Amino acid sequence: MTETIDTLVTHAHLFSMQGQGVGYIHDGAVAIYQGRIVAIGSTSDLEARFQITETIDASGCAVLPGLIDAHMHTPWAVVRGVAQDVSNWMQMALAPYSRHITPEAALAGTRLNVLEAIKAGTTTTVDFAKPNPGWAEVFEGAGVRARLTPTINAMPPGGMAGWKVGDIYPLDDDVGQGDIDTAMAFVSDWHCAADGRITVMLGPQAPDMISGDQLLQIKRLAEREGLMIHMHVAQGDREINQMIKRFGKRTPQYLDEIGYLDDQLLAVHLTEATDAETVLIAHSGARMALCSGSIGIIDGIVPPARVFREAGGLVGLGSDQAPGNNCNNIFNEMKLTALFNKIKARDPEVMPAWEVLRMATIEGAQAIGLGDEIGSLEAGKQADLILIDLSAPNLTPAMDTPIRTIVPNLVYAGSGHEVKTVMVAGQILMRDRQVLTMDETVVQAEAQRQAEAVSLRVAADPVHKKMALLTAMEAGQL
Ligand SMILES: [Zn+2]
Repeated sequence: MTETIDTLVTHAHLFSMQGQGVGYIHDGAVAIYQGRIVAIGSTSDLEARFQITETIDASGCAVLPGLIDAHMHTPWAVVRGVAQDVSNWMQMALAPYSRHITPEAALAGTRLNVLEAIKAGTTTTVDFAKPNPGWAEVFEGAGVRARLTPTINAMPPGGMAGWKVGDIYPLDDDVGQGDIDTAMAFVSDWHCAADGRITVMLGPQAPDMISGDQLLQIKRLAEREGLMIHMHVAQGDREINQMIKRFGKRTPQYLDEIGYLDDQLLAVHLTEATDAETVLIAHSGARMALCSGSIGIIDGIVPPARVFREAGGLVGLGSDQAPGNNCNNIFNEMKLTALFNKIKARDPEVMPAWEVLRMATIEGAQAIGLGDEIGSLEAGKQADLILIDLSAPNLTPAMDTPIRTIVPNLVYAGSGHEVKTVMVAGQILMRDRQVLTMDETVVQAEAQRQAEAVSLRVAADPVHKKMALLTAMEAGQL
């Protein structure tokens, strides 16, 4: 008897990402049943093998696993563009805004960012944010896969905006404990929710933003609950300066000594890690989230992902936040990652297109701890996939034989706007560029409205007068 399936995606330039390369199959097909992939192979083989409920014709399209964004801060999308091209980005550019983003504004940012991500082919988002009511529901409703990380820090209310650069932060243990308790309540509510689509990580914001005791408390909780820890590590000279003043050592040595470096840790950025420190972290089994666009714009630095990978570490790509990147688009991250690392090494063979495509798919999945579920198209895995229209002028001609040019063109010429259809766990979230799970017009209008309200509140705050953006405007540069 013929086996019945829900969906067969046919006639694709199929990049399964199986094996050590990109796993290309000419005229390929993907068979899907109850949200999972049951087979991949040639279109003719799978058409003969299955009784098919719905066929999705992917002629002229590349079909890939959905892209993975290993590090985001979605609420910040509501103030896209307010912080870039400045020194002391966090304290001087971002902080003046943070205290004026209401929970409603934050939610509007999250909705906008999830919409932007879906439209650029991102199916898994690893978000790091304050767990305002409604935050997780955005991901649940949009149908994307999410690893949600409620922010834990011990920063007193009001935040950094009034602090002097270089002073030791006035941490407050009560605030830290409150955040830990909130995060654990969020874990009970959301870990493995929405048929397992939503999972939770514990997120001490950074080792300089919480006491050592509370950092260790989080580690114990993560071990007890079997959760990963998602933390900014060596994310800037500001952090290293704090760590030396508080503990007399740099972040990687400190984390090593307190037993924080292991495969439970997703270490974000490593901006200031030396090569030796990078190797230490990679050898521990910890994984790295690389945010090429964000760290380029914020710090003018190329993080040491090449050293990390050469030491055997797993790297995923992250888009970070919209004030200072200024987009959340993994196509952008793939291209910048390949270019920046070639330029840094003065070597065009460093980080070829196929490798950064793996970092955006299978390697990214492994880095965030979901390598068994997503990141490649293979039987048993979740049906998270995207169709990319290769007839877009910037992707034409699409050559398959005798020379195949699709992967380098996707990485160096793709913008994300060529993504045509997006599926997560077998559910179509976007078909022919129409997002089916969100109302695009409403999401964008609400983000605009909230952004205007935030900017009025910021303008009424005296701290605004010191902002670099205002000076640039007055000089006619914006
Ligand atoms: Zn971040």
